[in-house]
Formats: sequence, structure tokens, C-alpha cells
Amino acid sequence: MIYTLGIDIGSTTSKCVILSNRKDIIAMALLKGGAGTKSPIKAFNLALERAELCSDDLSYVISTGYGRENFSESSEQISELSCHAKGVFFCEPNTRTIIDIGGQDVKVIALDENGKMSNFLMNDKCAAGTGRFLDVMSGILAIDVHELEEYARNSKKPVSISNTCTVFAESEVISQMSKGVEIEDLVAGICESVARRVAGLAKRIGIKDRIFMSGGVAQNGGVRHSLENILNKNIAYNDKAQYMGAIGASLFAYDKFLDNQKGGE
Ligand code: ADP
Repeated sequence: MIYTLGIDIGSTTSKCVILSNRKDIIAMALLKGGAGTKSPIKAFNLALERAELCSDDLSYVISTGYGRENFSESSEQISELSCHAKGVFFCEPNTRTIIDIGGQDVKVIALDENGKMSNFLMNDKCAAGTGRFLDVMSGILAIDVHELEEYARNSKKPVSISNTCTVFAESEVISQMSKGVEIEDLVAGICESVARRVAGLAKRIGIKDRIFMSGGVAQNGGVRHSLENILNKNIAYNDKAQYMGAIGASLFAYDKFLDNQKGGE
């Protein structure tokens, strides 16, 4: 058995995936807290514990994501764009466009039929259209990000949020709350605001079917369905959407391990 581990150290979370023989996911771990926290090493140890392995059993470890450079357990680092492309293509080979919304950035990645990244666009300069926007808004609404989907679903009359900038949008939402606007309607408007921003980026790259949504925000059906309406396209997603970078890193780890073995022969 060849065990490889991929760790995606993001701005807000740390995700770990262990693969056996480049085929089966034998353990996953996700902890809140990303670059600069203790979460990466805790997620690493948790994944090992779940797989009933120790670090010496791992043939190769690759780190990716915002905090990839500072992880002492990794054998090598690879960019998150490459890892996302690899992870999504492995799990969903029909994908030609990836929309990844993380804690602080959004990426749209175009793939060719061999899974090679042919183009990408990224916004990491502005919180609008990222998980950060949803984190800030759920904070002022005093609800958890995991509840956003249900609130959005129960909205009868979504309120459009006119400000794009997170700081101004925050004041706008507070003002609407003070006027007694229903939280459900505000949440639907907030999800739509993120979707509008991301759709703008996706349209610039030229969307090809099939679209797959990854990253933490993919779990939010409110944003997903809003994006589907704006783009007039179906968007696929699965329960491992937040782990795609870590899966890609673990796949790269296997490939690099074999390359090194061949090089040493
Ligand atoms: P990163 O890799 O940048 O840390 P992730 O892809 O792990 O980002 O996504 C983290 C973001 O996803 C956070 O902003 C978090 O609030 C958001 N998130 C996680 N679960 C949900 C959910 N159910 N609904 C909306 N946002 C979510």
C-alpha cells in the first residue's frame, strides 16, 4: 500500500485527505483555523488517527493553499489552482469549469478534456463574493453560516443588497434589520449578492459545461441556486466539495512519490 497525504491550508480552514494507492480516500479531516494557526498540524494528526496510521506510514505529503509554505510535515508544496483542478477532475471528470469559493478568495478554473487547467481567473483582493462576505453577514444576523441555506430557502421576498463592498453592505443590512425586514429575505439577498459577484468573474472566463462548485461556500444551497439562476446553468457539487484541494494534493503526492522512485532507479 502506498499512502499519500494532501493538506490544504486555507485562510480559514485546514483540510486533510489520505489516499491509498491513489484510489481510495481512507481518511479526511477538516478543522476551523487555517494558515498561522495550530489547525494544520491538528488536522494532519486527526487524519492519521482516522486512518489508523502514523506519519512514518506516509510515502509523500504535499501541502497546498494559502499557508502551504509553512507546514513542516510536507515533502513539497503545490499551488492551490493546480490541486483544485486535479482534485475536481479526479472526482468529477466531466467538469470543464470549476467555481471555487473559499474563505477569502474566489477562483474560476477552466479545464480541458484531459483535466489540464486551460485558464483561470481569481479574486483575492476583495471580500465581496467570498466566504468572508457570508461570515461577516451571518455575524451581524447572529446566525451560523450553516443556517444560511435554510433561511434563504424560506425567503418569500428576497431583498436586493445594492452595495458590493462588504463594509457598506454590512451597514445596509443593519439598516434593513432596524426597519424590521425579515432575516430570511435578507439572507436570500446576501446569497444573491455573492452569486452576482462570482457570476461576473465566471462570465469573463467563458463558462463551459459541466460546472462544478468547490470550496466551503459550495455547501450553501442559497448561493449555488442563485448562481444557477444567474448563469442559467446547472451546477454540480458533492459532499467533498471543500476537500478538492486536499484531494488534488494527495494525488500529486502519489505521482511525485512514483517519479522520485523512478528517478532513484
Ligand atoms: P479556505 O480554503 O480559504 O479556508 P474553504 O474552502 O475551506 O476556504 O471555505 C471556508 C469558507 O466557507 C468560510 O468562509 C466559511 O464560512 C464558508 N462556509 C463553510 N460552510 C458553509 C456553509 N454551509 N454555508 C456558507 N458558507 C460556508
